[in-house]
Amino acid sequence: QGKSRGGGTVHAFSPAVLSSADTRRIMEFELAEALENGDIDIVMQPIFGLDREHPLAAETLARWTNRRTGESISPATFIPVAEAANLITRLDLTVFRRAIATYAELTAAGCGFPTLMVNVSVRTLEQCDVVDLVRETLERHGVAGTSVVMEVTENFVIHDAHRLSETMQAISQFGIRFALDDFGIGYTSLRMLADLPVSYLKIDQSFVRDLSNPDHRRQHRIIRAIVELASQLELHVVAEGIEDEATFDQLRELGCELFQGFLLGRPASAAAWSGGKVGVGKGTAAA
Ligand code: C2E
Ligand code: MG
Ligand code: MG
Ligand code: MG
Repeated sequence: QGKSRGGGTVHAFSPAVLSSADTRRIMEFELAEALENGDIDIVMQPIFGLDREHPLAAETLARWTNRRTGESISPATFIPVAEAANLITRLDLTVFRRAIATYAELTAAGCGFPTLMVNVSVRTLEQCDVVDLVRETLERHGVAGTSVVMEVTENFVIHDAHRLSETMQAISQFGIRFALDDFGIGYTSLRMLADLPVSYLKIDQSFVRDLSNPDHRRQHRIIRAIVELASQLELHVVAEGIEDEATFDQLRELGCELFQGFLLGRPASAAAWSGGKVGVGKGTAAA
């Protein structure tokens, strides 16, 4: 079940994370409780075009501070737990509602940006009732679907390709577009590209990291090929995990158009995005 991803991080069921069934059960229980109590917070990381002053988009990332331990738990740890415990849909929808509410507030405060990106698991998109919840959330906060991109992560083998495709088609009727996240390392990327309404590709960080090594000529060519594939399919390409100028320059030369990484901007709270105008008291952005 464990799956090795970029940077050698093992996300699912790694012994370090889930050393015993007890540890895992405790974390599942506490995550369920955190979802009840509204303890799941969000941060947003800017995404830029060639203009590095004004973000074109931002990606919403879930954050969880455990009440009992005070510890901040990384999504790399709790997303696999949520997936295994069937909490992922609740988590995704909690994050989605909060992201849309926060985006509406940021926009109203004059601190908005054109496109809001939110992660959703394939599992979540296999549920048809998410369609209504997504529509209701957009309506409640007056956010246009055309401002929203859902990043689909493919940590799972798709159970129900037909249902997934139907849900994505229905959601795209609201103007929401889809990105394939971590492209190049998942289970079924090319199949998904062929069958599903996808508008963006996010090149996995592990390929981006390879660029800093001049010996990795093959990896450079893989990125070039992904950019070429995206251009053939008229998709936007986002490179994530950019940590240095040399990597940024290479990605630009390879034809990437959207850039994300610690070099350009770290994930930040709504309060930080708005200079204190939005989301200062906790819970103001909660749906
Ligand atoms: P992702 O969607 O690929 O998000 C990018 C991850 O890379 C984030 O980690 C971000 O903080 C990190 N990152 C961004 N720039 C850099 C950089 O320059 N260097 C390095 N080393 N890392 C960078 P984070 O926040 O820990 O999230 C990990 C993963 O958890 C996400 O990967 C995403 O797959 C998942 N995730 C986060 N929030 C949600 C959510 O609400 N729902 C679901 N289903 N998954 C989520
Ligand atoms: Mg993502
Ligand atoms: Mg990614
Ligand atoms: Mg990732």
